[in-house]
Amino acid sequence: MVYADNAATTKLDKNAFEAMIPFLTEDYGNASQPYSFSRRAKNALKEARNTIANCIGASFEEIFFTSGGTESDNWAIKGSAFLNDEKNTTITSIIEHHAVLRSCAFIESLGHPVAYLPVTGEGIVTPQSLKSIMTDCTSLVSIMFANNEIGSIQPIKELTQVAHDYGAVFHTDAVQAVGHIPINVSDLGVDMLSASAHKFNGPKGIGFLYIKKGTALSPYQNGGAQEMGLRAGTENIAAIIGMAAALAVNCAQEEKTISRLRNFESIIIEKLNQGKIDYKRNGSSDCIPGNLSLSFKGRDGEALLHRLDLMKICVSTGSACDNVNTQVSHVLRAIKLPKEYIHGTIRISLGRDNSEDDAIKIASALLKIL
Ligand code: PLP
Repeated sequence: MVYADNAATTKLDKNAFEAMIPFLTEDYGNASQPYSFSRRAKNALKEARNTIANCIGASFEEIFFTSGGTESDNWAIKGSAFLNDEKNTTITSIIEHHAVLRSCAFIESLGHPVAYLPVTGEGIVTPQSLKSIMTDCTSLVSIMFANNEIGSIQPIKELTQVAHDYGAVFHTDAVQAVGHIPINVSDLGVDMLSASAHKFNGPKGIGFLYIKKGTALSPYQNGGAQEMGLRAGTENIAAIIGMAAALAVNCAQEEKTISRLRNFESIIIEKLNQGKIDYKRNGSSDCIPGNLSLSFKGRDGEALLHRLDLMKICVSTGSACDNVNTQVSHVLRAIKLPKEYIHGTIRISLGRDNSEDDAIKIASALLKIL
């Protein structure tokens, strides 16, 4: 099998798995208990928080564990809206993940205004467009770091500056970026950042929200005193340990992985060009390494996915479909992809475990099918 759907999920890192085992077997203590048996879990939790903070340039007390990207996004958006400040408008973009868009729809249904920014043809939110709709009532700006379909990386530092100029808080959904490209929250200036372990070779169902010291945010879950009383619930120690171990491995290998993935991208692109295939590559020139959103003229992305599947190659399409209708994704519509290309879209997302041979196999399979 050639697995080329790493934007959907990734393979669990071996070191991460091994680091998790003791906390699933003998070190099962509850980190909140004061006896020495639980101290092992408590110390491991502290160490994991430190490791993650170091990987993104934060302090350990700014890392809050959640169940993943969806929860982190829900918390950032609802937690800001529920502060019920005089400043109560949220600004986001039309290409966000549904974890953000549906959280925004929810706060809108409760009477909190939300404004949605358009993007350029490359899927970029420009600082100028953000500036044009900022007002003194804007409380939160939430713009994703990198898009999950087309990989475009946003000018986060500049967008954060615009939000701060109006006294607003800046959140970024960095689920597709953390563990894949260098990120330093202090340098970027962001106030909140969402991440999910299973996108960077960690376990599923665990993630974190970075909350800069001093940022006001309502609690997400009420109950015990875990996560500074902001997100109650007994911690999933094994998953947290696995997440920290996976992030440390990926960050240490980041530079090498990026250059390998860029090389695999060019292998596929070169072969398609040599085969004189009529296609468009979506996204910006600066996109997440290994992400290839390709739209083939007059083709059907679903059919391509199934043909590739028969050849044991896993990719995804640019459309979310149910068993009745195939709906074109909101991202492809937002970048105004021409009609004759839009239905022929697939997303190839290569990861650190792919090889050059995988890239050649994908390109050859595509040429054969097309
Ligand atoms: N945000 C983005 C950009 C994503 O790509 C995803 C997952 O696909 C999520 C949020 C949701 O993350 P999780 O699967 O950890 O809930």
